[in-house]
Amino acid sequence: MRNYSIALIPGDGIGVDVIREGKKVLDTACEIDGGISIQYEQFDWSCEYYLKHGKMMPDNGLEILKNFDSIYLGAVGYPGVPDHVSLWGLLLPIRRQFQQYINIRPVKLLRGIKSPLANRGVEDLDFIVIRENNEGEYSSIGGRMYEGTNMDMAIQNSVFTRHGVERVLRYAFNLANQQGKRKRLTAATKSNGINHTMPFWDEYVQKINKEFPDVKTDIIHIDALCAFFVTKPDVFDVVVASNLFGDILTDLGAAIIGGLGIAPSANINPEKKFPSMFEPVHGSAPDIAGKGIANPTAAIWCASMMLEHFGENKLAKAIMEALQDVLEEGRIVTPDLGGNATTEEFGEQVCRRLRENY
Ligand code: ATP
Ligand code: MG
Repeated sequence: MRNYSIALIPGDGIGVDVIREGKKVLDTACEIDGGISIQYEQFDWSCEYYLKHGKMMPDNGLEILKNFDSIYLGAVGYPGVPDHVSLWGLLLPIRRQFQQYINIRPVKLLRGIKSPLANRGVEDLDFIVIRENNEGEYSSIGGRMYEGTNMDMAIQNSVFTRHGVERVLRYAFNLANQQGKRKRLTAATKSNGINHTMPFWDEYVQKINKEFPDVKTDIIHIDALCAFFVTKPDVFDVVVASNLFGDILTDLGAAIIGGLGIAPSANINPEKKFPSMFEPVHGSAPDIAGKGIANPTAAIWCASMMLEHFGENKLAKAIMEALQDVLEEGRIVTPDLGGNATTEEFGEQVCRRLRENY
């Protein structure tokens, strides 16, 4: 038996609904494979937990998570709890403590999903955005000064280190070199306006490029790159970006592959020294929370990425095939995709399909 342990953190709102279905799909994958066993432990850490306890997770939360093979997270967020509380109270500490310095967000159009760019002739999209996940613009260095006076100001510093920049670039180059269909790497920059950190980033892009001479590299300003995501998304292969730029790019990426209900993300510790974390790009979506109509596609795709991270490539692929079969058939899909199925009906259909296909 291959054994894996997963910490489930469904979180708030639709996070709870979509993780439930994602887990069912994982269970079905284990069942059809016969050679895998997964142990789960579920944690109720969330904004609701915060409202009761004044923190997003217990003080030894990271210590508890440390020994799992992976973390499967729904979403955290709640009306009345500021987003920076849920981010700095749970998500960011996990990403940092476990050195999940790679955030992978595939911009791949699934079979059965129509891109909003379809009317521009875009029928096929398949590239990957690698976002730096541990440093950059998301630093807690800075502060507020002279509040209440007319000199009121806030300062926030960005931190780019040689270690942090080299490791994410090397990962991205390696991916473009090994898996890229076009062996092409596009690095996001803004070195015209941001004149310390971004020239530093560009310099390391050129430096690491020398280790991968077969990879064709472009360094493109983030503003132009956003436009290219819409006007010519078919030229990309692997895109690498700093923390903030990667965040912005990947919401755009999510939009062009059909929306937030679809887009998955993986926070990876490539050395597997610590657990990696898999979470849909979407948030807790309070407007549809509790209605049972959230699309679990992103969460199910995350489950597949998790199995791939474990090296269970065959099962990971089987999940994606079953998922796409259901989407393509279009009979049982959630309202965001124009259907009227519930989260649960969709999840169960994917499980059924997975059993039939295997
Ligand atoms: P949070 O504060 O937790 O980030 P949010 O209000 O920003 O939540 P998101 O989940 O990020 O909400 O998504 C914005 C909107 O997109 C939602 O309000 C919802 O209507 C839609 N949406 C997001 N995820 C899904 C999904 N899985 N299925 C269907 N609709 C979704
Ligand atoms: Mg949000």
